[in-house]
Formats: sequence, C-alpha cells, structure tokens
Amino acid sequence: MNCIFCDIIMKKRPAKILYEDDSVLAFEDINPQAPVHVLVIPKKHIPTSLDIEEEDLPLIGYLCRIAGNIAREKGIAERGFRLVMNCNREAGQTVFHLHLHVLGGRGMHWPPG
Ligand code: AMP
Ligand code: ZN
Repeated sequence: MNCIFCDIIMKKRPAKILYEDDSVLAFEDINPQAPVHVLVIPKKHIPTSLDIEEEDLPLIGYLCRIAGNIAREKGIAERGFRLVMNCNREAGQTVFHLHLHVLGGRGMHWPPG
C-alpha cells in the first residue's frame, strides 16, 4: 500500500515524532498552519473517518486523549486549541490515512475556511 503516514509509522520516511506507543503516533506537520501543528494518527491504516469501524471506537477516543496530552505538553491547553479531522475532497483531505490535526498557539477563526 502506498501511504505516506504508513511509511512514517514504519520509519521508512522521517518525521519529528513527539509521541509513540503501540496504537498511535504523533508528529509535527511538515507544513504547519499554526505555531503548534501536530498530527495524531492511528497505526492502523484507516483511510477516512467514514471507514471507522465498531472495533475502532476506543482507538478514536484515544486519539483525542493523546491530542490533549500534546496540547498540554506544547503549553496551549489552557489557551485553547483546535482538533480537525478532514474527510474527503471538499474538506481538503490530502492524505488518506486518518489523522487528527492539533492546531494552536494563535487565535483560531470561526467559521473555519
Ligand atoms: P489533510 O489535508 O487533512 O489530509 O492533512 C494532511 C497533512 O499532512 C497536511 O497538513 C500536510 O502538511 C501533512 N503532511 C503531508 N506529508 C507529511 C509528512 N511527510 N510529514 C508530516 N506531515 C505531512
Ligand atoms: Zn496508511
């Protein structure tokens, strides 16, 4: 399978890894859109949020928890941060391995662009 994020998981492609365990990986986004921009991904290859299965539900909750830990470690938890999961073309999904963006360190706009 040709997947950039699976390559990062398998250490075939470099990344600035902030956290790793048996089920998830967190690393710096290569093209940051905010002072803090980290991606949290499951090690399981799930293409989009539409592909989440019953057995994945604890994993998705765990991603959110790890995202919160990243926000705390980056010092943006109290100020606030945004979690984004893009799905398919109009949302701007470009990598089809499910990922949670952790964005913060600046004021976020609403509605989002
Ligand atoms: P999305 O548009 O939601 O699919 O987000 C994909 C994200 O992956 C973008 O923010 C990219 O900058 C980021 N990205 C793509 N390739 C890499 C990479 N090799 N290392 C880190 N981040 C990446
Ligand atoms: Zn993948």
